[in-house]
Amino acid sequence: MKLIIKVGNIKDVIKDFTERFHVKGIYSHEETGNEWTFKRDKDLKSFTNNENINWYEYRQFGVFRALKKRKNWSQKWEQHMSEKLINNPRRVNYFVDIPSHSLPASKSLNLNSDKCSHQIQGGRRQGLHRLNEFVKYKIDNYQYSLSSPLKAFNGCSRLSPYLTWGCLSMREVVQAIRKTKKRESRAIDSRLHWHCHFIQKLETEPELENREHHPHMSGIRKSNPIFLEAWSQGLTGIPFTDACMRSLNSHGWINFRMRAMFMSFASYQLWLPWQESGLCLARKFIDYEPGIHWTQCQIQSGTTAINTIRIYNPIKQGYDHDPEGIFIRTWVKELQYLPTQFIHEPWKIDLFRQNNSSFILGKNYPLPIVDQIISTKTARAKLKERRSKPGFFDIANNILEKHSSRKSRKSKLKKNQNYADVKNQLTLKL
Ligand SMILES: Cc1cc2nc3c(=O)[nH]c(=O)nc-3n(C[C@H](O)[C@H](O)[C@H](O)COP(=O)(O)OP(=O)(O)OC[C@H]3O[C@@H](n4cnc5c(N)ncnc54)[C@H](O)[C@@H]3O)c2cc1C
Repeated sequence: MKLIIKVGNIKDVIKDFTERFHVKGIYSHEETGNEWTFKRDKDLKSFTNNENINWYEYRQFGVFRALKKRKNWSQKWEQHMSEKLINNPRRVNYFVDIPSHSLPASKSLNLNSDKCSHQIQGGRRQGLHRLNEFVKYKIDNYQYSLSSPLKAFNGCSRLSPYLTWGCLSMREVVQAIRKTKKRESRAIDSRLHWHCHFIQKLETEPELENREHHPHMSGIRKSNPIFLEAWSQGLTGIPFTDACMRSLNSHGWINFRMRAMFMSFASYQLWLPWQESGLCLARKFIDYEPGIHWTQCQIQSGTTAINTIRIYNPIKQGYDHDPEGIFIRTWVKELQYLPTQFIHEPWKIDLFRQNNSSFILGKNYPLPIVDQIISTKTARAKLKERRSKPGFFDIANNILEKHSSRKSRKSKLKKNQNYADVKNQLTLKL
């Protein structure tokens, strides 16, 4: 089958086809995208209606259009995933012979050139190979590989880009994992469930890409281009965060725990608006999936009001997940010769030592751009103030009702819940 590529405004492209051919229908997958793709689809819908063309959209994930309530969502998801896989058509009759555009280069789309040097190869063949390798050799140790970036690159499935770009279908991945009948498969099975659970939120409420889930949490943070740039380049002066960010810049991928950690660092310690840091990450991720991404950005920034607030301590994360500083030394070359006792906190090296070595803090590597303890305390105080406003928990309970699974809805947030209760939810990892 020949693939014809057309570049341009979708309405002009379809119009061109309707002038050349008798178009009976348009077939596509359902997309839960960004605000602009949503707007594009609405425009196209009114165009196809006017032109009397049927547009058939097919569900690609366990995400359901026009869903008002979450009741029975899990059953629907199960049903969708257990349906029979559709085989590739053996032969496709190919009638259309029109010229194809070539695949546009980033420059022609006004995009920056791609500096991501270590990204994995795309395509269906690569995706299938990765899925098979994971099922055969990696599934048993998967759960133990999730947290540390030292293990995650090899131990996580890294199927996310293939799912995002449609190289693999969610149904075929779920079925391949379940076929193993291993107890260990449960950990990844539930994550595949989360994939659709989060996308469903954006499908139901597309505004979540831009505005805070809980209105009381809106407009609390402040833009700071200098902080944002230092964070994005891996130059915050906190070695483990910087190593993770630089690794992401080279791979376009990093594990969940590290994504959560540097998003939390941007939102709490640096107090940056999640819309700005989230956009910066979206541009780096090769698996950018709007529904997961924006809901996760909000969760890690405490703006949903229904999820446990986790303010990660990036220094402690470093000691926990990279105790010898191997990951830091790989990605933050400036620190590679530091003794392990200082690798996570180079500011502890006394001046005498610095004077007698080639390493000078503030010259070879930045001093921390914020005081981790003070900035965490300030963030907590600001959250406390917002959460103690009248009506906060009533709104939070409505959000819970609309977006959560039945199980989590059973534990309703208490009305007039005071800060002592809220404080228990603050998993402050110091
Ligand atoms: C701030 C932030 C932004 C994120 N943005 C994205 C994004 O744009 N695209 C994306 O696919 N994931 C995103 N995630 C979720 C998660 O980090 C990735 O899905 C996961 O790291 C992908 O690696 P993997 O394929 O090896 O996952 P595995 O651990 O092997 O899991 C298999 C699959 O399950 C799904 N999955 C796993 N963890 C999660 C999760 N926490 N939430 C939802 N689905 C999950 C993914 O489809 C993943 O491919 C984000 C997380 C955070 C904290």
